[in-house]
Amino acid sequence: MVQPLEITIERSVNKKEKPPEDQLGFGTYFTDHMFIMDYAIEKGWHQPRIVPYQPILLDPAAKVFHYGQTIFEGLKAYLTDDGRTLLFRPQKNLQRLNRSNERLSIPEIDEALVLDALKQLIAVDQDWIPTEAGTSLYIRPFVFATQPALGVSPSTHYQFMIIMSPVGAYYPEGVNPVKIFVESEYVRTVIGGVGEAKTAGNYAAGLKAQEIAKEQGYSQVLWLDGIHRKYIEEVGSMNVFFKIKGTVYTPSLNGSILDGITRNSIIHLLKHWNIPVVEQILSIEELYEAGKAGFLEEAFGTGTAAVISPIGELSWCDEKLVINQGQTGDLSQRLYDTLSGIQRGTISDPFDWMLEV
Ligand code: PMP
Repeated sequence: MVQPLEITIERSVNKKEKPPEDQLGFGTYFTDHMFIMDYAIEKGWHQPRIVPYQPILLDPAAKVFHYGQTIFEGLKAYLTDDGRTLLFRPQKNLQRLNRSNERLSIPEIDEALVLDALKQLIAVDQDWIPTEAGTSLYIRPFVFATQPALGVSPSTHYQFMIIMSPVGAYYPEGVNPVKIFVESEYVRTVIGGVGEAKTAGNYAAGLKAQEIAKEQGYSQVLWLDGIHRKYIEEVGSMNVFFKIKGTVYTPSLNGSILDGITRNSIIHLLKHWNIPVVEQILSIEELYEAGKAGFLEEAFGTGTAAVISPIGELSWCDEKLVINQGQTGDLSQRLYDTLSGIQRGTISDPFDWMLEV
């Protein structure tokens, strides 16, 4: 029988000063420790260890730099008012991590080992979980190819790491609708590509459009499909939902859309509340028609960072569509309050989503 790998812990002797909780922002401060594990083709995954947070040394020929063989995940730990630490559906992130690995020809990682490593890492850096309302500890697991070789083929060596960052409240002044630019030139990904995987290249590919949208005063872009520039896919790095005449629509997982854990949870919640929810292909023309006829009641993005991000206005080929007078809709607010309440332990968790660590 294969023995489970033992995780070693080397504690930091130089603890960093903690940043003020009202200035955390997103992903700029990192905790005192990190988790790291190596892979070699002859040995498999080995030497799982928690060590002080530090730079890593890589060969300039490491394949990750040249061919982008890398994937990541993102999830959060929340501290409850009564001092418990909760993770939101972490098993789903680990399953998605391995689906991304599979797509990028990266060897599978033992999900139970990673969950154990994550629990131990959080315990070691427990005092880094911020306490102010709305704050959380963002967790970033990632894998990258380290073999120093320039041939285009799957790497023989990898590293898997977890780093953690205390992050500020996403909405310090309440949920806020944003303006979105419908992107009809650039695309994020295509069916058959790597859109379903959380891999770095998808995000690099999106930067250009995001930059142009920002210059024009929009917060993010609405991505359309890569072949027809017609069907709605995602908004920024979030999944997207529309409430039209009382029914909630979200694009079905077609192979180029990321299977968001917030998306899945929102669908669950809507079904639980008996609100009709449909996963289907949805064109931007149909959406604009519904909007112009007065049937588009709400629109919002979903993701780990913001939970719900209402869309107050769309702009497609110079035509603007204001949604719900640019205000946060009742359903968006209810979904936000419920899901963030479950995550922070202030609302009971009927689905057994939270894992106490
Ligand atoms: N789409 C993309 C492209 C993303 O990067 C994310 C963030 N992980 C999401 C959707 C939302 O996924 P989740 O709800 O799991 O955070």
